[in-house]
Amino acid sequence: MKLVAIAVPAPLRRLFDYDAGAVAERPLLPGMRVRVPFGRREAVGFVAAPPREEAQPAHACKPIAAVLDAEPLLPAELLELCRWSADYYQHPLGEVLATAIPGPLRRGAACAAPADAATLRVTGAGAAALSGLPPRATALRAVLERLQQAPEPRASLARALPRTSAAVRAALERGWLEPAPAAQAPAGGAQEPGPALTPEQQAALERMRAMPAGFWAALVEGVTGSGKTELYLRLAADALAQGGQVLVLAPEIGLTPQLAQRFAQRFGDRVASYHSGLSELARAEVWRRARAGEVAIVVGTRSAVFVPLARPRLIIVDEEHDASYKQQEGLRYHARDIALVRAQRLGIPAVLGSATPALESQHNAAAGRFLHLRLQARVHSAAAPRIGVVDVRTQRLEHGLSAPLVDAVQRHLGDGGQVLLFLNRRGFAPTLLCPECGWVARCTHCDARMVVHRGRHRLICHHCGAAAPLRQDCADCGKGGLLAVGQGTERIEDALRLRFPQQRLERFDSDRLLRAGELERLLADVRSGQVQILVGTQVLAKGHDFAGLSLAGIVDVDQALFGADFRALERMGQVVTQVAGRVGRAGQPGEVLLQTHQPDHPMLRLLIERGYPEFCRALLEERRAFGLPPFAHLALLRAEAPREGAAMAFLHAAAAAFATAADTGTAVDLLGPAPAAMERRGGMHRAQLLLRSASRSRLHRRLAGWMPLLEALRTRSRVRWSLDVDPADLF
Ligand SMILES: [Zn+2]
Ligand SMILES: [Zn+2]
Repeated sequence: MKLVAIAVPAPLRRLFDYDAGAVAERPLLPGMRVRVPFGRREAVGFVAAPPREEAQPAHACKPIAAVLDAEPLLPAELLELCRWSADYYQHPLGEVLATAIPGPLRRGAACAAPADAATLRVTGAGAAALSGLPPRATALRAVLERLQQAPEPRASLARALPRTSAAVRAALERGWLEPAPAAQAPAGGAQEPGPALTPEQQAALERMRAMPAGFWAALVEGVTGSGKTELYLRLAADALAQGGQVLVLAPEIGLTPQLAQRFAQRFGDRVASYHSGLSELARAEVWRRARAGEVAIVVGTRSAVFVPLARPRLIIVDEEHDASYKQQEGLRYHARDIALVRAQRLGIPAVLGSATPALESQHNAAAGRFLHLRLQARVHSAAAPRIGVVDVRTQRLEHGLSAPLVDAVQRHLGDGGQVLLFLNRRGFAPTLLCPECGWVARCTHCDARMVVHRGRHRLICHHCGAAAPLRQDCADCGKGGLLAVGQGTERIEDALRLRFPQQRLERFDSDRLLRAGELERLLADVRSGQVQILVGTQVLAKGHDFAGLSLAGIVDVDQALFGADFRALERMGQVVTQVAGRVGRAGQPGEVLLQTHQPDHPMLRLLIERGYPEFCRALLEERRAFGLPPFAHLALLRAEAPREGAAMAFLHAAAAAFATAADTGTAVDLLGPAPAAMERRGGMHRAQLLLRSASRSRLHRRLAGWMPLLEALRTRSRVRWSLDVDPADLF
């Protein structure tokens, strides 16, 4: 019997054998999609390995219902990358493949050009093969000879040379033909040369250009405004001039349209973007065009790391420190890490850029694994801003704002500058309190307080989304006069509007920016000087250029200083540095003010006085001392259940299974199980078990042996569980 192993999108870490007898006349190559019966439904799966003959299969196999592709949808390179990801993240291959491809293709849609099919051309190998073809290969010879005259769309080739589709397919599989770049995309580098480079940019570019062919990785650590993007554009132009394609990853294209725009300005319609703001169909079309080699540059978010490329030549990861590269559900992958693995496997360079590189990347650079390039001068030569601290212990705060901060706002506005106030908390206030009896509005599903949203007249839980009307009287004692305690962006907005009614103020957070295009419209108004005051969250710390900004205030830096997570300080340093990087106009140094209760916190002082690189060196020492990444490797097993105790019971059983696994004695520590920092969320009781090892390979060996034991645990059916390899946080 002819059996074939299929990866089906299901939460089981194994492949499923199917009988290929019924579709024996069709070739079944790894990376092709098939439709198969699966349980009581039908599923679209991927051929994971070439078919094999087995005289007596161990168990009955169902037949494959249909073969959906004439050639592998996934190029071998991408299939292998997905296999690597499945192993590394201990995730079912079928689900990894489903993550890697756009929705319509996942559901079985054809991957074909809408109107005119891809244009084909003869490769060097094809030209060489032509002279040695046996005389009977008439169809193949006719195809190669015709395409050698001129590349031609597949459809018109099929009309000119009927009955040659099998020969075309064979030639594609052997690499004798390849899709030519779309006719409208002119060959060569950039359409315009771009501005002159600074000496620093020039030196960095020359060092990268001097690297040998093949894989290498560079970390471009460039302060905001130092022109990292111009380096990306030059490297991309080099890659295009050599006939290659470039993959550019960016954290959130919806929030930072500028990167995609600059590539489009330089390279025109050879650029396509790939992100969640596009329709599924549009994404599938970009995926197809990238695979066919019709687009030269793909600028995309996290999942674009899996976009297939016909002629990959370079991968760029912008803002490589950004937390949104880590997917927090399903396949919990880190797109930067996969980008590096992919570049290595393809034998092409990977260039990471950031003003505030992640500790992992700095560690890699320090260890000599990355070329470390620093850009310290701003292109428009505004000096770095002065950073000052407001000790709020000695201040009376009004709506969270101290007099020195409000005075500074007034001064900068008076001088014609723009000001930005940063607070990483949406809503009006994080707590609603009864001053009579001490009652606090809590979420009934989570161990969390309800956040006051005054604009919407609601209390909203930021963890599960539960909402309730904004009440006027206490739920406990019934008295009125409830207090909104603490600040969110809405409250800062209200306070500043009252104080500066003549100025235009805009708030930037996810509550405000719900409509598509809203952010771009507001940013345009900021750039043209129509907006004087910006109040916002993270949204404002992400790569925007504000030429007129002269003051940034960080309303509550303590929020990050005492974050419970081991990455909280690193993120604080990144936010302060990123926000400070936006300040300074027309050659004038700007001003940054941090409000804190801890003006003498040693890490805060280090960041302010010595800057981000020194701050990171100290953080790395701390991580080394505590055995935390990048000096140790972590995996977090999370479990949650509606019933109290079920998650802990599962994790205790999981820990016991770990201890009994054969490969004992290797240095993997088990920490926990313990209830999660927020024990109850969305009505679920949550707990976790942390694994830690100084050796990545040992950790992975133990995980691989442990997963099947977990899948066999009796208690597993009472919980939802997931494994997070290299967790971004420990919640
Ligand atoms: Zn909740
Ligand atoms: Zn009360």
